Amino acid sequence: NKQVILKNYVSGFPKESDMNIIDSTITLKLPEGSHDVLLKNLYLSCDPYMRTLMTNPKYSFNPRSYTLQSPINGIGVSKVLESGDQNYKEGDLVWGITNWEEYSLVSAAQIHFKIEHTDDVPLSYYTGILGMPGMTAYAGFFEVGKPKKGENVFVSAASGAVGQLVGQFAKLIGCHVVGSAGSKEKVDLLKNKFGYDEAINYKEEHDLNAALKKYFPEGIDIYFENVGGKTLDAVLLNMRIHGRIPVCGMISQYNLNQHEGVTNLAHLIYKRIRMEGFVVANFYHLYNKFLEFVLPHIREGKVVYVEDIAEGLENGPAALVGIFNGRNVGKQVLVVARE
Ligand code: NDP
Repeated sequence: NKQVILKNYVSGFPKESDMNIIDSTITLKLPEGSHDVLLKNLYLSCDPYMRTLMTNPKYSFNPRSYTLQSPINGIGVSKVLESGDQNYKEGDLVWGITNWEEYSLVSAAQIHFKIEHTDDVPLSYYTGILGMPGMTAYAGFFEVGKPKKGENVFVSAASGAVGQLVGQFAKLIGCHVVGSAGSKEKVDLLKNKFGYDEAINYKEEHDLNAALKKYFPEGIDIYFENVGGKTLDAVLLNMRIHGRIPVCGMISQYNLNQHEGVTNLAHLIYKRIRMEGFVVANFYHLYNKFLEFVLPHIREGKVVYVEDIAEGLENGPAALVGIFNGRNVGKQVLVVARE
């Protein structure tokens, strides 16, 4: 059972060498009387929150840090090989928390949803558009952002797993949408594939405030916050009265030992802005409603999804580390097995 284990706790940017690939043994049979579920892992998701679990628990706000020398875990799509839980049976496809290894024994509580798979959508989509990032974009934009037709929307990390969907959802309801991303290739994707009205390469745009003033002469109604730091600071200056900032993530801060100060927070008062953090897990009760919304759009080609596929557990550390320097183009998926 090939595994990706955490070798040491991480401070600063994660490196491939913080993880190791090892081979261990597993009995592919449930222990007598077990209520657990034995999984074959197919597609694993590389997600920014995993970095917070690599920090020494002594210094982390998140009490669930990974255990050293044990496999790291994350969200994955898996096939049930054997189940001691009545809700699952052999052959079921599921998504939920699983270990970064070929086969995992998990408790049924770790499984988030059973997948009703149809061949017209890739199974890997359940790590992205049809899984946690898709729900994040949906809940964060519609439930927290409460958008109205015609509003001005700005999205950071706009080509990523979540951002590419926020931009498309905003276009679907008739908003004016601008995104920022870190390369020319991504800016092209934003404009030519995801339908953003304009796009900013924040690595080349040294005066983000001026760029935002150019693209939003009347100001921003909704800022879908994925990165934090300097971007947030510039956006605050450009928000409109009664603007909303759904705070999804702040990836620019996750690897800093000391978080960057944001100097323009007083604009929350001047412009009566509502800035609200949210966690996708609190919205999973909307999952079926979300699937009913998004699946027809995928089938009709009205919402598209770009994935960045890495093959094999041995390439897992590089794929995971890559999302912190923007190496991924679209949703970073790691394939363990295809069936
Ligand atoms: P992405 O697929 O967008 O991958 C991360 C991207 O972030 C990179 O490709 C890179 O793109 C960008 N990035 C990395 N470092 C920086 C930096 N220092 N400054 C600016 N951009 C940076 O990830 P996701 O779509 O999965 O996640 C996006 C955000 O959503 C994250 O902050 C994540 O933590 C958050 N999130 C929150 C959830 C919640 O429940 N609240 C659930 C899921 C995600 P680029 O080349 O453009 O720099």
